[in-house]
Order: sequence, then structure tokens, then C-alpha cells
Amino acid sequence: MSDTTDAKLVHLSNAIRDEARSLGFASFGVADIDLEAAGERLEQWLADGYHGAMSYMAAHGTRRYRPAELVPGTLRCLSFTVDYLPEPMQRLRDALDKPSAGYIARYALGRDYHRYIRRRLQALASRIAERIGPFGYRVFTDSAPVMEKPLAGKAGLGWIGKHTNVIDRSRGSWFFIGEIYTDLPLAADEPVADHCGSCTRCIEVCPTGAIVAPYVLDARRCISYLTIENRGDIPEPLRPLIGNRIFGCDDCQIFCPWNRFARESDHEAFKPRHGLDSTALETLFSWDEATWLSRTEGSALRRTGYEGWLRNLAVALGNAPTTDAVVGALEARRDFPSAMVRRHVAWALARHHRPGTN
Ligand code: SF4
Repeated sequence: MSDTTDAKLVHLSNAIRDEARSLGFASFGVADIDLEAAGERLEQWLADGYHGAMSYMAAHGTRRYRPAELVPGTLRCLSFTVDYLPEPMQRLRDALDKPSAGYIARYALGRDYHRYIRRRLQALASRIAERIGPFGYRVFTDSAPVMEKPLAGKAGLGWIGKHTNVIDRSRGSWFFIGEIYTDLPLAADEPVADHCGSCTRCIEVCPTGAIVAPYVLDARRCISYLTIENRGDIPEPLRPLIGNRIFGCDDCQIFCPWNRFARESDHEAFKPRHGLDSTALETLFSWDEATWLSRTEGSALRRTGYEGWLRNLAVALGNAPTTDAVVGALEARRDFPSAMVRRHVAWALARHHRPGTN
């Protein structure tokens, strides 16, 4: 861009805000690239081993918190949010109270957000280029070593709550975050203050005690990690605590008082598909791999893999009330080829006082 006077940059920021809104983004903010404080916290978190087997969290070194090392020439990181809450909050609480149906984290009920948001960010960058000519940029959605939460915090989109999610005072925390790294020297926004105050609700309600201190999450205990990122067995002491959560967990958001301001998303893409918000555990467990592949096409549910899906369901079935349907579903998988699935099925059958095969 040849003319970078302050007035032009303010005008450009306003134009980006308008374009972002027209593309379905709920909020937009600009951060500078100084993430050293967040980087120090990350290094401590890694040193404490809280990332578990997510070695990729450590793999990129300083590039994660030095944006210009990841994309040379970066001067600013633009953050954007997209609301995804697909149904009223009360329905989420009702779903948790229904142990015979699987609870899936609400971000994963509809279409995979990665492509959806990336396309919109790309469209936004193209619109900016139409206005000002070619400029340097790269778009991200949870797809590279990017510190999206600290960046959103610096950009004034909310504060990082004690549960480690970003909270917007007017909308709660049910949103995805995407970024554009750019060489445009836009004015950085001001971060907002932390409004958690003396509240500790998320720490108290976390089923597995994964928030080990305010603002510190031990991923190894977090149900999202255990049911999605984790490729191995779920530790036995944690299995009874997982209840009916078969893919991720929303408890820290469901019970956060700031989410009383949460609005339902009007993005059709994030509405539940295939009745996944209320299907009986034994029905989900009976899906063969071809059915699972077809029902999870274009969905974030693919991340756990078919074996991981069955492992998670076996745990939930082990936690469900004993019925003929539950026991029958587990017995039908007693000799499943995967040893990991068999181990979880045996554990679940034992919970119903039935023998399994390891
Ligand atoms: S539940 Fe309370 S402590 Fe936790 S993030 Fe929400 S406001 Fe902060």
C-alpha cells in the first residue's frame, strides 16, 4: 500500500470491519505481534507437561509466539470471530442430563469450521486487495502454530477466562476464532480487562478437574483431549468422570455465567447434522465404519478416527444405566478387531457386571 497515513489506515480498519460483518464474522480486532508474555506462559505449560502427547504444541519453537518468524513481514494479526452455538443453552444442560444419549461438543455437531472460516477469511482478504491493491497476508483457522486466544485477547475481542477460552462480555464464549497475519500497519486495538473476578465456577464444574489452577489447563485430564487428540487408552480413573461425553466437552462454557449472554448462531453450517445432538449411545455404537465415514463427512468428528469414536462410546456406555440395549450393544463389540476398543468394551461390560474380552 503506497499511502499509509493514519486517516487512511483508520478508514481501512473500518472497511475491514464492515466487510467482515457482511461475511458473517461477529467481531474483528487488530493486535500487534508482541506475544512474548503469552510465549513465556506457553513454555512453562509445555515444561509442566500439560500438553500430554500433543507434541506439535512444542514442535514449532518460537514461531508460535513470534508471528513474523512464521510469516516474514507480519506487522499485525487481525482476529475474527464466528458464533457457533447451535441451540439454546438449556438444551445443552438437558443433553448432559441424559446419560443414554451421547454428548458431542457443540462446535462439532455441524460442518467442520476450518474450511468454512478459511474460505471467508480468504474472501475478506480478496476484498481488501480489491480496495488497496496487493498486500502481504496469510489466513489461519486453528491450522498452524498460531496463538489464537492471546491474539484475540490483545485485539480486544475478549479476555482469556480461567477456563482458558476467550470471553466476550456481550456474547460469551461460543465462537470460533480465525486470523489474518498481514504487513498492513493498522492501529492495534486495546485489550479488554479480565472480568472473571472471584468466580471459580468452571474450575468447580470441570468433570475431570482439568483446570488445575486459574488459567491453567492440564490437557491430560481434559475430556476434549482424552476423547479427540488422545490416540491411546483413556486412563481408567478418568473414565467414570466422563459420563456421556463422547467427543469433547462444553461444561466449562455451559456453566460460565458470562454465557448467559450467549446468542444462538444463525450460521446454518453449524446446526446439528444426522440428529447427532440426541442420538442414543447404542445406535451410535452400532455404526459400522462405512456409516461412520458417511455421517461424519465434512465434520470435525473425523479427528478422533473410527476406533477413537468406538473407544469413547464404550466409555459412555459403561457409564450409562444398565439396560438390555446397552449391554447388548457392548456385547456385540466384545470381539472387535482393535485391542484398544476391546479393552474399553471389557471395562464397560464390567461396569454392568458382565464379562468382556481383553
Ligand atoms: S466460569 Fe467464572 S472463572 Fe470460569 S471463565 Fe467463566 S467467569 Fe471466568
